[in-house]
Amino acid sequence: SADAVYEALDVDSLPARLAGIDAIAAQVGTDPAAWQVREVGDGNLNLVFIVEGPAGTVIVKQALPYVRLVGDSWPLPLYRAFYEYHALTRQAARDPGSVPQVFHFDAAQALIVMEYLSPHVILRRKLITGERVAGLAGFLGRFCARTAFRGSELSMRSADKKADVGLFSGNVEIPAITEALVFTDPYFDAEMNNHTPGLDPVVAQLRADQGLKVRVQQALQRFVSNTETMVHGDLHSGSIMSTDSESRVIDPEFVQYGPMGFDIGMLCANFLMAYFSQPGHRGAGLGDYQEWILGVIEETCAAFEAEFRHLWQTERTGLLFSAALFEDQGHESGPACDAVLAEIWRDAWAVCGIEMHRRCLSLAHNADFEEIADPALRAPLEARNLAMGAALIHGAETLMNAGAVCAMARDFN
Ligand code: ADP
Ligand code: MG
Ligand code: MG
Ligand code: MG
Repeated sequence: SADAVYEALDVDSLPARLAGIDAIAAQVGTDPAAWQVREVGDGNLNLVFIVEGPAGTVIVKQALPYVRLVGDSWPLPLYRAFYEYHALTRQAARDPGSVPQVFHFDAAQALIVMEYLSPHVILRRKLITGERVAGLAGFLGRFCARTAFRGSELSMRSADKKADVGLFSGNVEIPAITEALVFTDPYFDAEMNNHTPGLDPVVAQLRADQGLKVRVQQALQRFVSNTETMVHGDLHSGSIMSTDSESRVIDPEFVQYGPMGFDIGMLCANFLMAYFSQPGHRGAGLGDYQEWILGVIEETCAAFEAEFRHLWQTERTGLLFSAALFEDQGHESGPACDAVLAEIWRDAWAVCGIEMHRRCLSLAHNADFEEIADPALRAPLEARNLAMGAALIHGAETLMNAGAVCAMARDFN
């Protein structure tokens, strides 16, 4: 029950322990003896159960008090489930239909009961097997734009924004993982790092590049101190589930208030890593599929810009860029919107390059590269990815648009 001491669930104990929760029974059926439970967590941190009954199916996600990937030597607070729950409610309000519906939350048990997405599959899996998803770019671009805009003082009252920043600032240890694993560890000999044999010279080159490290630390400075909007915080292709024509975003436990460009930057990095890893996964259709991925990047960024400009014109009800300063005085605010977007892209492309580095150099690698079994095939593909990451970090200031980024990817490929 809700006030019981935390105890991790398992497939055998789950029906008896959750049987009394009406919100679950309403979805799955009232007789727990008829529930079938499978544990499907494939992430680095949490337990995820599929609970199937005569009336329907739900997902039960429960935090563990340590990092699943590493073990109980790395404790991690259970309270992250509280932030994941609150992030899901805000994302649902800011971009309706973008995330699974939440049926029940239990803070003491650190568990969230939510809509079972089916036949959705983790997008990273589809990118590795070479599947296309219709409408993906529009969905993702709008999600990033709506959550960025509607979680900021462009839309929110200052008092509401400050209260929300205060709430989410309690999520300390999880963003600290990003601060270390993403922004710091790749650029020194951190204990938990690993990389493919053969990449030593590339790694040495990155660490010798002082200008690069300055830019990365400036990006970290913005990440920790610029509370522009509520970011998902972990928006990679493993946090997106898709059918062949419908997509949702899951797993916002890395939520924090941060730069508006953070999510779309990390997202584009994961598409670029999918792009560079493709020669390790297919021969036939390789070029066409790689171009489809680049098209997704360009369209995602275009959809982001279009939606952001639309919200700027129609929902600029917050503290910032008040109409009293622009439209009411007969001034078009388009140039102001351009300036805000330029800042967003500067942050985004720097984060993009950094994410491309950390997925090959620090602790948590991605399946796109990891599933290329032969290191002699994997290393040169990762080297292209690392080189482009550096070029993005160095070039982020010069207002690169997505078209230029995709042209750069073709050059490095
Ligand atoms: P973690 O925080 O440990 O990474 P995730 O929230 O990413 O956990 O979930 C892990 C896996 O569980 C996902 O990769 C997906 O396969 C499955 N999963 C999570 N949420 C859902 C859902 N709402 N519907 C269907 N499958 C889900
Ligand atoms: Mg996950
Ligand atoms: Mg997670
Ligand atoms: Mg690796």
